[in-house]
Amino acid sequence: MTDKECIFCKIAGGEIPSSTVYEDEDFRVILDLGPASKGHALILPKQHFKDLCELDPAIAAKALPLAGKIGAAMKKALGCTGFNVVQNNGISAGQTVFHFHVHIIPRYENGPDMVTWAPGKATPEELAEISSSIREELTR
Ligand code: 5GP
Ligand code: ZN
Repeated sequence: MTDKECIFCKIAGGEIPSSTVYEDEDFRVILDLGPASKGHALILPKQHFKDLCELDPAIAAKALPLAGKIGAAMKKALGCTGFNVVQNNGISAGQTVFHFHVHIIPRYENGPDMVTWAPGKATPEELAEISSSIREELTR
């Protein structure tokens, strides 16, 4: 299913042109218009899913191997020495386009710091309480 109003549906379906690096029956992989680094790519499923929680498991199972394949090609083609795989869900997580997508962000030696956070602190009691509340929800 596609969404008539969704920009990524239009790009994935080829209705709007994009810098495509890969395409198969399920996905189109394009370059991000506002790249975090040279080669920043987005894996777009051709079907519309709002986010990871709604993603078809069969498509999900193909997305991570595809990310690995694209990342390996980036290392050879662009000379990056690593890459980050980022996937945002929800406004608070930084999602701005509500069509599931996976960012593949090439990382270069001496490149800027990104996709990082300052580790916080949690007591064993806090961790136990948090893990139990998530576990409970999963077994509902
Ligand atoms: P999000 O913040 O939702 O995880 O990521 C959305 C990404 O899509 C951003 O990195 C943004 O630069 C990129 N983007 C938004 N609109 C377009 C577009 O029309 N074309 C391309 N190629 N990238 C887009
Ligand atoms: Zn869409």
